[in-house]
Amino acid sequence: MRWLIPSRYTKVSPWKNRLLRSIRTASPWFHMPLLMILVFVPFIHHYALTSNVSLYIKRLGRLSYVLVVLNVLLTLRPGNPIFGFNYLDFISLHKWLSRFVTVIGIIHGIGFIVKWSIDPSVSMISKATRLYNFIGVVAFVPLSVLLFVSIRAFRRYSYKTFYIAHQLAQWSMVFLIPIHARPRVTVPYFIILLVLYVQRGISYSYHSSTVHVTQRVKDETSLTYVKVDRGTIRDWLPGSHLRISKYKKRNPLYWLMPTKPYTIASLPDENQVDLVIRENSVPYVVVGEYTVVDVYSTVPPTLLYDSQRVAIVVGGSGISFGLGIFKYLQTRNLEYLKFIWLIRNNEDMHILNQCNVDTNDLEVYVTRSLPQDDTQTKSPAANSSSEFDDIDFELETMDDSGALLTSDVKTPSKVHFGKKLDWQVDLAQFIEPRTLQNSWLVCCGPKSLLDDGQAYADQNYCNFVKEFYSL
Ligand SMILES: Cc1cc2nc3c(=O)[nH]c(=O)nc-3n(C[C@H](O)[C@H](O)[C@H](O)COP(=O)(O)OP(=O)(O)OC[C@H]3O[C@@H](n4cnc5c(N)ncnc54)[C@H](O)[C@@H]3O)c2cc1C
Repeated sequence: MRWLIPSRYTKVSPWKNRLLRSIRTASPWFHMPLLMILVFVPFIHHYALTSNVSLYIKRLGRLSYVLVVLNVLLTLRPGNPIFGFNYLDFISLHKWLSRFVTVIGIIHGIGFIVKWSIDPSVSMISKATRLYNFIGVVAFVPLSVLLFVSIRAFRRYSYKTFYIAHQLAQWSMVFLIPIHARPRVTVPYFIILLVLYVQRGISYSYHSSTVHVTQRVKDETSLTYVKVDRGTIRDWLPGSHLRISKYKKRNPLYWLMPTKPYTIASLPDENQVDLVIRENSVPYVVVGEYTVVDVYSTVPPTLLYDSQRVAIVVGGSGISFGLGIFKYLQTRNLEYLKFIWLIRNNEDMHILNQCNVDTNDLEVYVTRSLPQDDTQTKSPAANSSSEFDDIDFELETMDDSGALLTSDVKTPSKVHFGKKLDWQVDLAQFIEPRTLQNSWLVCCGPKSLLDDGQAYADQNYCNFVKEFYSL
């Protein structure tokens, strides 16, 4: 709820700040216990628990289905109807709510199996294999699998397997449980879910467009620059990301396989869409035809339109998030604007050549490559082209046709070699006590960078916005 609840640490007690942040960021640490209180306090009601165990086991099953409605609401996009939030804000809460729904569903199933097993008057096998009960058993197989494959380590190991299990679990829950449940859950829950899925189907097709990836530039180790024809992609806010699929809309895999999110480094008034990608060994985006599902904004409009002092600190591929915002803010003539890009290898700097950006106000920290004299930093005073040549700064990049591209790198105002960012020193001019309300620190990169950025923003009471390239 970035626009309703202050996005900056204020001079109130730390616990109040923590609470506000938990609400604003839709943190599961705050919302899951709250939800549990809300659903479990009225849960045991009217009927005694000990003499009505099977009724309460049934209720658990119904509760899990009812909560699916809330869970699907959390994932709606492009705009989320829960005011002020976007779908990325809710990913974490969605994960924990899914686990909660699955666990209470499984307790419901196990509860009945135990009940039938200890009741000598019924056969557990014949009860569990009765059509409607068996449908419930079938539905919970993919849900139980999802419980394991959604663990972060597994998701990282094979996102595709996780995603397929996620889809199967989702469809079995939504469509099989209404057949299994007695009394019925069709009205209103299944109908609400159908409406939400129709909305999702429309959002997957209405704004989608076929695009051509026309250029891909990288060398062996560097970030990849990808140029996409603008096509009919609708306008986006700076810092937005698109979701791209290899498949055409008429291919069922378009609907079944995960789409990849990449942040747009260019502005909507440019002819092309620039992407900056840290690729795996097998690149997902190569020259050819793709479908862009839509563009999604996650940046608070107040940062774009009302900010006065902005510091952008990004690492590696996080430059794609910083670039769009930076280029837009350059047109606004702010009191203070600084863009810091932290990279391991200077080869990554070829990105600046591809993206149409004015590199004034841009500072690069190259942490791994050192010039001959590793105390040397490249400052405006040392900004002559001959000194730049001294550090052997020639780039050899290859495009998709295999041609070598040798380019002179656009010169940022400062390049520091082998130096770590010192937040207090390097951003010493950023904080101005009279304009804290309109001062924004923008970060994108690895978790450690985001944590440092958050700590800096808390210490200095400025607004903070971050993007993390991992779900
Ligand atoms: C909002 C957002 C914006 C992003 N912008 C950029 C960007 O500008 N440049 C960039 O290099 N990366 C960006 N990423 C990360 C990028 O989307 C993933 O790294 C990429 O999808 C991994 O694909 P892969 O085939 O290389 O790796 P895989 O081997 O398929 O997966 C590696 C890991 O990447 C993550 N991942 C894989 N597929 C997806 C998916 N469909 N959705 C989300 N995460 C996934 C998972 O954690 C997975 O374990 C962004 C991510 C998000 C959430």
